[in-house]
Amino acid sequence: MSEERSSFALDPEVYRTLVESTRAIPWQIHWESKRFAYIGPQIEPLLGWTPDSWLTVNDWYERMHPDDRDRVLEYCVSQSLAGVDHEADYRALTHDGRYVWIRDVVHVVRDAAGEVTSLVGFMFDITERKRAEERVAELQRTLEAMSYQDGLTGVANRRMFDSVFEREWATARRSGRPLSLALFDVDCFKQYNDLYGHLQGDECLRRIAQALAAASTRAGDFVGRFGGEEFVLVLPDTDARAAAAIAERCRQRILEQAITHAALTDGVVTVSAGVATVVAGDDIGQIDFLRTADSRLYRAKLAGRNCVVSETEAVTAV
Ligand code: GH3
Ligand code: MG
Ligand code: MG
Repeated sequence: MSEERSSFALDPEVYRTLVESTRAIPWQIHWESKRFAYIGPQIEPLLGWTPDSWLTVNDWYERMHPDDRDRVLEYCVSQSLAGVDHEADYRALTHDGRYVWIRDVVHVVRDAAGEVTSLVGFMFDITERKRAEERVAELQRTLEAMSYQDGLTGVANRRMFDSVFEREWATARRSGRPLSLALFDVDCFKQYNDLYGHLQGDECLRRIAQALAAASTRAGDFVGRFGGEEFVLVLPDTDARAAAAIAERCRQRILEQAITHAALTDGVVTVSAGVATVVAGDDIGQIDFLRTADSRLYRAKLAGRNCVVSETEAVTAV
């Protein structure tokens, strides 16, 4: 296998062309001298500083927002000393005095003896994503202020969902970034009420809402009560695979709550979920997108409940 691979070894010029044609900006810093050995030419169109102007790690530090410097430097130095690959988000100063959000993904390179020789990495422009996160954070503040909250469960209510979904839909369509939606429905909840009464049913819904909120921890994620015993997640900048994984994690977390439901085979409360994702180029309207998630939820029910159906089909069987 390794012999086969070596016959595909790329010529350094091809490597260079490849790394310099990505939108991410490659760089290398020698560990001992703390000097830049390389930074991709893409840095200039992004920040306005020429590649030649990046001499040492100090230039990187100085061209960072003062509020981010110490946190990022401390974190990167400690991770590098420990030899651990890592990533850091910070605001980089442009030549004309603006700031651009960067995600720096760092890989620690060692020699045969295991000594760290250099750091290599890619800088990604995440300004658009940060803006989206800030928008959702602002919406969340509005939610508290305007009481767009579901009185029973404490998560966002349907009205808030409608407005978040509207905005995230428009943002995703404009930016070409993926947007995912996950609909959850409690399994055999009518029977739960019949067995334990409505008040305990209400308590059960509260616990499910809490588990959902705890399972989707990213800043931009939105959790709401869609209606009755149905909940919804809006996941900006999330592709089909990631969304299916998040929905699956939510399903698991609810299972782990171990809320007794004697009428079910597992003996505990479970949920079914349908997940839909829209990506650039998809010719679909907002309502059909929601319908897709809903029809997958229906398929999850038909498949026996306690499972997630997404674009990648049934992720977890019963
Ligand atoms: P399925 O697995 O197919 O989803 O079956 P289900 O019994 O969960 O579905 P169905 O739509 O038949 O019943 C939903 C139940 O959810 C009926 C309704 O009384 C109950 N429900 C809706 N909202 C609330 C609520 O706020 N509190 C309580 N306790 N129950 C609620
Ligand atoms: Mg229902
Ligand atoms: Mg139900």
